[in-house]
Amino acid sequence: MAFVEIKNLKKLFKNLVAADIDHLEIQEGEFVSFLGPSGCGKTTTLRCIAGIIEPDAGSVFVKGRDITRMPVYKRELGFVFQDYALFPHMTIFDNVAYGLRHHNVQKDDLHKKVSDALALVGLSGFEERYPHQLSGGQQQRIAFARSVVYEPDVLLLDEPLSNLDFKLRKAMRFELKRMQRQLKVTTIFVTHDQQEALSLSDRVVVMHQGRIEQVGTPVEVYENPASVFVADFIGSSNLIKGTVGEWDEQNGLCLVHIPHAAAVTIPSRKTLTKGEEISFIIKPEKIELHDTRESAYDVEGKVSGASYLGSAFNYEIDIGDLRLEALDSRVGYGKHYEIGDSVFVGLSPEGVRVLRK
Ligand code: ATP
Repeated sequence: MAFVEIKNLKKLFKNLVAADIDHLEIQEGEFVSFLGPSGCGKTTTLRCIAGIIEPDAGSVFVKGRDITRMPVYKRELGFVFQDYALFPHMTIFDNVAYGLRHHNVQKDDLHKKVSDALALVGLSGFEERYPHQLSGGQQQRIAFARSVVYEPDVLLLDEPLSNLDFKLRKAMRFELKRMQRQLKVTTIFVTHDQQEALSLSDRVVVMHQGRIEQVGTPVEVYENPASVFVADFIGSSNLIKGTVGEWDEQNGLCLVHIPHAAAVTIPSRKTLTKGEEISFIIKPEKIELHDTRESAYDVEGKVSGASYLGSAFNYEIDIGDLRLEALDSRVGYGKHYEIGDSVFVGLSPEGVRVLRK
């Protein structure tokens, strides 16, 4: 039995379908992210699980219990919001103890649980301070401590890192993952930041216009996007359209003709037929650049854009009418290309992913 199960969940705001989730199962202890662009329904879905919004249809189960119409306080869920929502007039101790007092936890036990939670987030000794006496990162840790102190069944995190600056945000990602692993708490994390979702999650739920577009491990959604939308949203991808040509059955390869550009070899599938229009992707970091033709898969192109990113060079390469983005991490070796240089672009079939229709 799944730890969390969502079935046919639907929420409309007037005519707008904000969330429409057919089926989603989350296992005990899993860290699952809802990822998608602004307005795709991540928060609405999370709020339906939390009980802050009532869905128009469908059900949410936690540990087999139907919680769809249950009041928020009976759901045994922990929340961390974007703005932390700490009580400004309460000390850190009272903020963290708040949920425990509502659960009628006895005094000795309460003190131990609060001090364990503060130790978990590395803020022992901060009990008597008030929220305004803490930095943003520290407030965020307190919000986390407050949400896990009464051992909720599921932890719901709504863009909890988005108010932090870039460096702190990255550091807090590691912290969050460490704390979640230590507690083994089932976690649903809402974010529009693909790096955050990929680095934190066991599985990522990619959402688009209220619906689930793909569910998979970070590697699956990055390497094998199920649709053009996922390919485009997760990492930058070169999306290429072409017409299926000759098929090399023996080697499992197929030649695809790209209009006004070149012919490219891709891994073949039996379902591809000659003359069929297909789309496939190649990630910028999967493209190799050579000075001379090094393999049969190399295609000649011209550098039309070049920028130095520190850890890599980012290029735009024109092959006829086709413009590709390439990421070359051979920095430090002194080798790089300039705009106007001719270059051979290594488009090996292993780097190509054909998109499902
Ligand atoms: P963001 O990343 O910007 O928070 P999101 O993916 O979390 O976006 P939601 O907040 O779930 O998106 O919103 C989904 C859609 O529902 C949006 O088009 C939004 O404008 C709309 N919406 C959300 N809440 C309401 C509301 N209370 N009344 C009317 N429309 C709403």
